[in-house]
Parts: sequence; structure tokens; C-alpha cells
Amino acid sequence: MIKFLDLQKINAQYSAELKLVASEVIDSGWYLLGERVKEFETSLQEFQGGGNAVAVANGLDALRLIFKAYIELGFMKEGDEVIVPANTYIASVLAITDNKLVPVLVEPNLDTFNLDLNLIENKITAKTKAIMLVHLYGKVCWSEDVEVLSKKYDLKIIEDNAQAIGATWKGIRTGNLGDASGFSFYPGKNLGALGDSGAVVCKDDVLATTIRTLANYGSPTKYVNQYQGLNSRMDEIQAAFLEVKLRYIDNENSLRQEIAKYYIQNIKNELIILPKNDLLNEHVWHLFVIRTTQREKLQKFLLEKGIQTLIHYPIPLHKQQCYSKIFDNLTLPITELIHEEVLSLPISPVISKEDIVYICETLNDFNI
Ligand SMILES: *Cc1c(COP(=O)(O)O)cnc(C)c1O
Repeated sequence: MIKFLDLQKINAQYSAELKLVASEVIDSGWYLLGERVKEFETSLQEFQGGGNAVAVANGLDALRLIFKAYIELGFMKEGDEVIVPANTYIASVLAITDNKLVPVLVEPNLDTFNLDLNLIENKITAKTKAIMLVHLYGKVCWSEDVEVLSKKYDLKIIEDNAQAIGATWKGIRTGNLGDASGFSFYPGKNLGALGDSGAVVCKDDVLATTIRTLANYGSPTKYVNQYQGLNSRMDEIQAAFLEVKLRYIDNENSLRQEIAKYYIQNIKNELIILPKNDLLNEHVWHLFVIRTTQREKLQKFLLEKGIQTLIHYPIPLHKQQCYSKIFDNLTLPITELIHEEVLSLPISPVISKEDIVYICETLNDFNI
């Protein structure tokens, strides 16, 4: 069986280094927010080419904390609106609703799967305070127009960079394009920890300090509570693992790009719509997502041939039970079409060339 994602194999590449740093952390006697976390924050800042990095417990918290900090700082308040793609993982929107802000869903562009930037301006009202852009599947979602809009309407631009670490737009890393961004180091992400963790990267020093305080019980110094904060700290052991794996992320992303290129050049089947051949550095291929009207049949066919695939994502967030009150009767045809037709093929730095060739041949054999 060709696994969708072989985490064991991914981490086995760095096994000796990971075991060494794990034993160092065990022996250190210090397990949360210590030197390892500081080192990783510095390395992440260097990798990003600027900004303040704040390590937190997971990607959802990173995004929640950005909004929470903007509220504490008086830039936003309950009931304000945030423009966000309808085609995203639910975490992007949970970060908004969890802060009692109002998500305004915008349809994607069918070619990029990302929020259609042309539709933003029409959605801006007097209550709009921010635009959240998601670099979905690892593909950059950005243009100069976004900056123009943010200045014109005084909006914060927040990036959900959970799937796109390492991608660049005109030499700038995603996560450093807008005002603040959330990273996830969930084990299956391009830069995965061996457990949960995440980070915020932002330009503004005051915002960074506020987020750091909020993430540690709202406490700037021990037993002094400035805000009603969260417990969202990064473990030293995860920071140590991430410090090791960050050194290899650019290399791993370029392996993903090679696989994507091979897929795009070699999958030739009328029943399958391939992603557009993107500018090399504007996509880090967290997922390689095809579309087909024959999804169920194709997935079953591939499984019978020993190829595991997944669907990202099967139910659009506006149709989820948890949002039935907020998005009652909302129809979003492009988002819904995407959710009916997408299928993610295996892509990772450890898949063999042989397996990739076999996946292409098998896809080319599929018919109805
Ligand atoms: C994974 C992910 C998140 C949340 O990250 P966690 O670390 O799982 O909390 C947020 N947004 C997107 C787009 C994601 O893929």
C-alpha cells in the first residue's frame, strides 16, 4: 500500500538528531517556554526573513490569539466582521467565531482553490476589520491589491499559513506578507512536530508582546494577570524537534515541488482536472489536489490498486452542524462544487520515484 502520508518514514530521516535533542530536553529539567523555545523562535524569524515569532501550542491557537490580541488592543470588538475564504479548513473560521467576530465567507477561484481576491471589495462594510487569507494546500494567496485594500479601508491582513510554510511571493515568505500570521506544526504539516504546536509571526512588536502574554494566562510576569488569557505554550521538546526539522524544510518543499511537477506532466486523463502549473516558489504542495466528477469511483479504484487518497475536505464549513445557526441556508456553489470533486493524491518528501510513476500510470488507466 502506498500510504497517503508516511510520518514514520518522514521522521526516520532525522531519527538520530531527534533522539539526541529529546534526551537533552529530558535531562535539562526544563520543559516549557525555555531556551529551546527561544532558539526556535529566533530560527523561525530568520527563516521568515523578519517579524516577531511567538511559539504557541497549536495552529488554531495561533490564529485565535491574533484576533484576541487585536481585541485587547482595541483594533476590533465583538460583532466586527472578518472576510475569510469559504473554502478552507474549519480552524480558520473557528479562530474568528471563537472571538465573537463575524466571519464573512467569500467564494474561491476554481483554478487556485484560494479565495477569489476580486470578490473582496464588495464584501467590505463599515464593520469589516480584517481579511484572513489562507494559503490553502500550500499555494500562495496574495496580490498587491490586497495591500491597497487594507490601506484604503484600514483593515488588518491575517494569513493562515498552516499549510504553506516556506512558500514565497516575489521573494517574501508567506506569513510575512500581511500583518500577522498563524503557523501550524501539526505532525502532518510540511513542518511537523511530534505532537501539537504552532506559532504566530507578526511585524508589530506590541502585537507580539500581547500575544505572548495572552498565550501564557494573560500574565506578563508571574502571578500578575493583565488579560483573561489562555494556556497555549509550546513544549521545549517540540521546539527542539522543530529546530532540527526547520533546517530541512526548504529541501523537503523542493522535493514536493518535483513530485507535483511530475504529476502535472504525466497524469493524462480526461476525467481528471489537475492543479494549474504554478510558479515554482508560489506553491509548497502541502497537498496535491485533483478534481473529478467521478471521485468515489476513482478513490475506490486507486485503493484497489494499493494507493491511499484523502479528501480535503468532504463537508464545507458552512454546511457543518456547528455552524448551522450562523450560515443557515447559505449556498456557495463554487465551494460546494470543490467539496464534491476534490481528491488529494499522496505527496511527501519520502515517496519513491517508483511509487510516483505507478500512481501516474494507475490514474491514466482509470476509466468509467
Ligand atoms: C492545520 C490547520 C490549522 C490548524 O492547525 P492545528 O495545529 O491543527 O491547530 C489551521 N488552518 C489550516 C488551513 C490548517 O490546515
